[in-house]
Amino acid sequence: MTSNADLFERACRHIPGGVNSPVRAFGSVGGTPRFIQRAEGPWVWDAEGTQYIDYVGSWGPAILGHAHPDVIKAVQESATHGLSFGAPTAGEVELAELICQLLPSIEKIRLVSSGTEATMSAIRLARGYTGRNKIIKFEGCYHGHADSLLVKAGSGLLTFGNPTSAGVPAEFIQHTLVLNFNDIEGVKAAFAQHADDIACVIVEPVAGNMNLIKPVPGFLETLREQCTEHGSVLIFDEVMTGFRAGAKGVQGITGIRPDMTTLAKVIGGGMPVGAFGGKAEIMDCIAPLGSVYQAGTLSGNPVAVAAGLVTLKLLQEPGVYDQLEKQTRVLAEGLAERARAAGHAFSSDYVGGMLGLYFTDSVPTSFAEVSKSDTQKFNRFFHGMLDAGVYLAPSAYEASFVSLTHDDAIVAQTLKAAEQVFKQL
Ligand SMILES: *Cc1c(COP(=O)(O)O)cnc(C)c1O
Repeated sequence: MTSNADLFERACRHIPGGVNSPVRAFGSVGGTPRFIQRAEGPWVWDAEGTQYIDYVGSWGPAILGHAHPDVIKAVQESATHGLSFGAPTAGEVELAELICQLLPSIEKIRLVSSGTEATMSAIRLARGYTGRNKIIKFEGCYHGHADSLLVKAGSGLLTFGNPTSAGVPAEFIQHTLVLNFNDIEGVKAAFAQHADDIACVIVEPVAGNMNLIKPVPGFLETLREQCTEHGSVLIFDEVMTGFRAGAKGVQGITGIRPDMTTLAKVIGGGMPVGAFGGKAEIMDCIAPLGSVYQAGTLSGNPVAVAAGLVTLKLLQEPGVYDQLEKQTRVLAEGLAERARAAGHAFSSDYVGGMLGLYFTDSVPTSFAEVSKSDTQKFNRFFHGMLDAGVYLAPSAYEASFVSLTHDDAIVAQTLKAAEQVFKQL
């Protein structure tokens, strides 16, 4: 049998850092990444055959649990008809119709292959539509790795203490204003100063790439008001939260209607699908109707779309999100209770199938607050849990993800493991 260590050594010889996306490298928690061989329901198995309860869920997509039989069947059936045509298909139309029906703020939508493509294209479109250059983003929010968005971004960039990427010319980000998440006055001040130069505001309406951080009351409302008043496009980056935080994303929970939304992760059901959509008036500015260019050889790939469609359809069954949030709540509360009983400064939060765990006294509301958490302790907790068969997100700056297959027994097993680990931290 091949060991994780052998695979990692081989990987490092030909793949930078041994991984194809940085946070997989266990860079912040240390140790050898697990090479996953297969997954089913709430479980993953590594190359050595070790079984783990998985709370990464492919970083969000695996909301139905891994390898849901209906999704696998749809992919297999679609694949027998050919993998890609470079021409439109009925499946794309159906997925577009379903998303527009589920998220009424989206009147028209375009499919792409990743979240990065979705946000990059949405911003270009917002700029083309408004004829303005400046964009506002928030510290700790991650919107993929397009140049103009790699400023004080979350996810792997936080983990690696690398707030801005090398290789991005200063000129490329001179139009990107970075504000503090949840800073209502900061938003008002930025709009007061730059009045009519702001093309768009892009925000994770619940941040999930600096751990889990919810908007304070009034924050998203202020973004909506200011964008409306100044003719700027409000973009909700729901790549992570879409169909994950709730049945209609954060826009469904808060009732705040963005002008544009970006999606990925869950809408591909584990396959590469992203999307951006919104008001028809804005969306009609892209090629071939309008002058903003955007394209993709594999966009709306039929096999990927088949996986996404089945996933979204299964999520429409009644009670699905109540069940998901209940399990996440029991985990969040159970973990906090056990951590505190063992004397640790610890707090937790949740929404839908997103779980936030913080080694801090209270739930953080900003990047500055979350960065005060005890990352050394988190790293020991992470490895303790891994040794006990629970695979959490390998960074204190990432949310963890619960699926519909995380049933009571799985949750109880997780809490039991955590109780022991907290005692030994
Ligand atoms: C994951 C993520 C992205 C990037 O998506 P990729 O598919 O990894 O390119 C963008 N925005 C948010 C909010 C995300 O969570």
